Amino acid sequence: MPELPEVQTTVNGIKPYLINKKIKSCSVFVKKLRWNLQKDLTKKIINLKILEITRRAKYIIISGNNFYLTIHLGMTGTLRIASKKDMRMKHDHFEIQLSSNKILRFNDPRKFGMIFYSIKHPTLFHKLLINLGPEPLNKDFNDEYLFTKTRNRSVAIKSLLMNSNIVVGIGNIYASESLFLSGIKPSKASKTLTKKNCRDLVASIKNVLKEAIKKGGSSINDYINVDGKSGYFQFDFKVYGRTSQPCHICQSDILQIKINQRSSFYCKNCQK
Ligand SMILES: [Zn+2]
Repeated sequence: MPELPEVQTTVNGIKPYLINKKIKSCSVFVKKLRWNLQKDLTKKIINLKILEITRRAKYIIISGNNFYLTIHLGMTGTLRIASKKDMRMKHDHFEIQLSSNKILRFNDPRKFGMIFYSIKHPTLFHKLLINLGPEPLNKDFNDEYLFTKTRNRSVAIKSLLMNSNIVVGIGNIYASESLFLSGIKPSKASKTLTKKNCRDLVASIKNVLKEAIKKGGSSINDYINVDGKSGYFQFDFKVYGRTSQPCHICQSDILQIKINQRSSFYCKNCQK
């Protein structure tokens, strides 16, 4: 599943091809992704000029004067830039033909993605975007904020981190990794985190995400390839997916447990 770094990398990758380009036409090859697509979507966005592409949580927001096209990649979605001569591929469900003659294609085998048009900014009205917590890389996500949010909450810290009302864009992978880096057990009750825990955790989250975005930068070329292998880069994980393999710090086996139905990985020596 694409997490924040993959989404940011997608934004960075497609941005140069979209800015100041007009939407010449738009084609939809599927009725429904996660939800039914708006029936008039293709008509609504024709001739509009793209001025900006931003990310909020894991939503990609393509916008211009009074229009917003919001895209979520779901579980398996990718966006790529193609040329006219490039054949459509299996699972290409949506495309925008640009005035530059390039094409932005949305591919999504599992169809959990989302695309919708609006004249208002989606964070002002859409139920999935209106109550989002701060961006993890922004200043308003800091140790004081996390300390306040963890008070009186018994929920496991890992689940709290994955709650987008608290902080956005931290999925299973980066929650596991940042908890390892800050020496905190994923099942630890949120309210028992000390101020130092919060400081370490916030720093780890920011570092691990920045590092992943930096790595993703080197795979930006994938977004203009036509082989469709675009997308999810391999990060050098310390605990995620490393069940029974030796901890990089103490050599004990990495353990796997379920927290809130999600697989969680940690080292019982290094994380307390
Ligand atoms: Zn260890």
